[in-house]
Amino acid sequence: MNLKEISTLSDTFGKSERMPLLFVGHGSPMNAVEDIRFSRAWKEIGVTLPVPKAILSISAHWLTRGTKVLAMERPATIHDFGGFPEELFAQRYPAPGAPDFAKETQRLSAKHHILLDDEWGFDHGTWSVLIQMFPKADIPVYQLSIDYSKPMSYHYELAQEIRSLREKGVMVIGSGNIVHNLRAINFQKDAKPFDWAMEFDSTIRHWIETGDHASIMEFQKLGAVAQLAHPSYDHFLPLMYVLGFQHKEETPKFFNTDFDMSTVSMRSMIYHQ
Ligand code: ZN
Repeated sequence: MNLKEISTLSDTFGKSERMPLLFVGHGSPMNAVEDIRFSRAWKEIGVTLPVPKAILSISAHWLTRGTKVLAMERPATIHDFGGFPEELFAQRYPAPGAPDFAKETQRLSAKHHILLDDEWGFDHGTWSVLIQMFPKADIPVYQLSIDYSKPMSYHYELAQEIRSLREKGVMVIGSGNIVHNLRAINFQKDAKPFDWAMEFDSTIRHWIETGDHASIMEFQKLGAVAQLAHPSYDHFLPLMYVLGFQHKEETPKFFNTDFDMSTVSMRSMIYHQ
C-alpha cells in the first residue's frame, strides 16, 4: 500500500461526528410507494439527518447461517415478497454499495468471524425505507445479515464490537418491527391493535427508555404475550443490534408509534444527540 492509498483510507475511516442510529418499523412493503403517515415520517426525518459516509442496514429480511456483510460495489434491488402490485416490483434503489466499509466492519468484528458477501443485495427491509428517507440514492449502503441460530447476546455483543463505525461516518439503521404477527393481521380499516400487541409494545418501549437491555434480551420470558407478538422473532432481532450500537448516555426519540393492521407495531426511534 502506498502513501496515497494510506491517506485515502484514513479519509474513508477517519473520525467524524457520531452518526445517528435508527430503529425503523418497516411494516408492509407498500410503504415504499405509498404516501401514508408512516412513509411521510421517513421522508420528513430524511431531510433532517446529516449526510453519512455510508448507511449500514440490519434488516429482518436477511437471515443467514453465519454472519455476512454485503461487500458489493453495485448491489441489486431484491423484490423479496409476493402478491403485491407491479408498481412495487418496478422499484429500484440504485445506491452504490460500500465494500470498503464492509471490510472495515469485518476487521472490527474479528471475534465474530463475519464473512464478506457478494451475492445478496438490498432486500425490502432496507430499500422500502431508504427509498422514502433518502430518495436520491446517492449515499453508499451496505447490509449486515442476521444469523437466526444465534442467541440474543450474540447480536447485541456483535453490534457493540463494531459500534465505532458510527464515529467513522456510518449511519446505522435496524429495520424490523417491535410487534410482528402476520398470522393475526386485521385488514379492517382503522382496526385497533390487539391488547397483547399494545402490552408487548409498551413493555419494550419502557425497557428501551430505561436502558434495561437485559430484560429485552430475555423478552421470551414474557410468555404468551411474547409468543403472540413474535411467532418467529426475525423482526425483533434488528432491535438487538440497535441497542448494541447505542451509547449509554443516548436517549431515544420515538416516531411512528402506532400500529398497522392491529398486529404490526410501527414504533421507530432515533438516537441523535
Ligand atoms: Zn418485514
